[in-house]
Amino acid sequence: MAKAQIIIIGRPNVGKSTLFNRLVGKKLALVDDQPGVTRDRRFGDANLLGLEFTIVDTAGWEDEDPDTLPGRMRAQTEVSLHGADAAMFVFDTRAGLTPLDEEIARWLRQSTIPVILVGNKAEGRASESGLLESYSLGFGEPIAVSAEHGEGFADLFQALLPHVEGKEVQEDEDEEDLAGPLKLAIVGRPNAGKSTLINAMLREDRLLTGPEAGITRDSIAVDWVWTDPKTKEARPVRLIDTAGMRKKARVVEKLEKMAVADARHAVDFAEVVVLLLDATKGLEHQDLKIAAMALEEGRALIVAINKWDVAEGPSGLFNGIRAALEEGLSQVRGVPLLAVSARTGKGLDELIAAAFELREAWSKRVPTSLLNRWFDDVLEKNPPPAPGGKRIKLRYITQAKTRPPGFVLFGTRLDDLPMSYQRYLINGIRRDLGFDAVPVRLTLRSPK
Ligand code: GDP
Ligand code: GDP
Repeated sequence: MAKAQIIIIGRPNVGKSTLFNRLVGKKLALVDDQPGVTRDRRFGDANLLGLEFTIVDTAGWEDEDPDTLPGRMRAQTEVSLHGADAAMFVFDTRAGLTPLDEEIARWLRQSTIPVILVGNKAEGRASESGLLESYSLGFGEPIAVSAEHGEGFADLFQALLPHVEGKEVQEDEDEEDLAGPLKLAIVGRPNAGKSTLINAMLREDRLLTGPEAGITRDSIAVDWVWTDPKTKEARPVRLIDTAGMRKKARVVEKLEKMAVADARHAVDFAEVVVLLLDATKGLEHQDLKIAAMALEEGRALIVAINKWDVAEGPSGLFNGIRAALEEGLSQVRGVPLLAVSARTGKGLDELIAAAFELREAWSKRVPTSLLNRWFDDVLEKNPPPAPGGKRIKLRYITQAKTRPPGFVLFGTRLDDLPMSYQRYLINGIRRDLGFDAVPVRLTLRSPK
């Protein structure tokens, strides 16, 4: 199992090597009062209260001239950042912030790496003003530790957990990144036109790269290449087709049940799920059930109204379905809704283009700096309630995973955080951070 890689960054003498040694549990790094003793990157197997990851200590940021970052050191660190899952940005709470700390912070804010701000040498009261001052760096609340005395490590554990766990979750997703085929499932009630739609997609100029049997007994994957009519780009698609979709069920009363079971199979393998409706039937309870199931499984969802060629009163129909969806699928406002005709081919390219676009949002990672700025703003506008007069403290939010996006919220007394406030946060993430129509998860963690 690939371990998460956490990099330590900070100016010389803030205690990076001491922290490294503490986490690795061996006297590996050379500790010295002289600035700049640590010259090379070193890797260690860290174990923090059972949390295992690889830790990288970078070459220090020389401070001979605090106004300019020495290019060589900076390049070193930049290289290390590439493979890292998160950075611990260490500063010295006793010394307070220096121009070099601020320079590093500016630089880190421009990168996309999640940053955990670590205020070292925080034993005793001399650290208080340094800790307060550090909020100005824009990385949220600092984790106060004493590397030398082994204090604050439970908080550090909490802060690192999502990045280390997120890595484990994402492992087998690495190769399935955005360059891989779009895994698309078409689901819907019997006779919605799923088979016709799949055949229409695969027809004509579309290159079929060969059906590949046996993902499971009941479903097959069809790999083909879609050419984007706008950009002329050739993009791989893997259509998940289930046997039940192709064979007509004979027992009429079991039809509805089968539709959900088939959909479940297909959804398991998909990144994006297209729920196909029949324009002559409208939206029924069964459709909402399938849609809700796809979202619960964390899939990105598109709703397509098929048989648009025979739709009656199209604009009224479209708006009616839009309204019914918003009402029935409150968990994901703004699910893309498209009109298509499998028979005439209308809207098929738009449908596939929308699916690619949605996958991008579904796979996206928000830079921690942006996330924290958003979070501060949201808290300011609408602070969490104080049930029973006791304040709930929200400290930090981080995106722990993608595909689908998952966020972890840290704070105290989170058990008392009302569902309505959690929904407020989730809706805000979707609206403000570009996750429209994507299922977003929020996990709450309070330090013990
Ligand atoms: P680096 O240059 O960032 O790697 O810093 P070092 O790990 O070499 O530490 C620099 C100095 O800070 C050393 O004298 C350490 O003993 C001291 N130091 C490290 N951690 C702590 C701490 O938690 N509290 C105090 N008071 N001193 C510390
Ligand atoms: P499935 O059970 O969801 O796979 O549905 P089928 O693909 O077998 O289609 C059911 C019926 O709807 C067939 O008679 C199709 O010819 C018809 N159909 C499918 N798509 C369209 C369409 O876009 N327009 C019209 N008018 N009929 C369609």
